[in-house]
Amino acid sequence: MNKFAGPKVGPLANSFQLSLCYPFHMNDCIFCKIVRGEISSYKVYETDETLAFLDINPVAKGHLLVIPKGSDSSNIFDISAHEWSAVMETVRVVSTALEKALGADGVNIMMNNREHAGQIIFHPHVHLIPRFKGDGLKLWPHGSYKEGEAAEVAEAILETLKK
Ligand SMILES: [Zn+2]
Repeated sequence: MNKFAGPKVGPLANSFQLSLCYPFHMNDCIFCKIVRGEISSYKVYETDETLAFLDINPVAKGHLLVIPKGSDSSNIFDISAHEWSAVMETVRVVSTALEKALGADGVNIMMNNREHAGQIIFHPHVHLIPRFKGDGLKLWPHGSYKEGEAAEVAEAILETLKK
């Protein structure tokens, strides 16, 4: 086990688990089909490079997905800086509208990257989940560091970023 492995993911991440997992962006990708209009969806916002639409199996009503329209990448690890910037700008615009439209009390912005992080569709996508006071949704359980462990973890990340 990786010594930096965190606590087990909570019920929200578990709800994304399915047996059918493809590790790479596939030709028959469901999100590409949505972009091409081959599968219907409830689109709420679109730019030249991005699309926002309802997740049809919502964690909460109004749960949206924001995706790049391009189909060259699979997740955060191979998306281009340009495409990612476009996705994040759409996330910003749509989050604001989502909270206002639903009278929500906040919005969670989440992204699952790779199978063991709960990624099911290997087309990059960011989840926007409206939150309401007292909605009972639980995200990750919080852990803690042992003596000296936080410094060790930070150092490992810092050194990797220098390379
Ligand atoms: Zn796709």
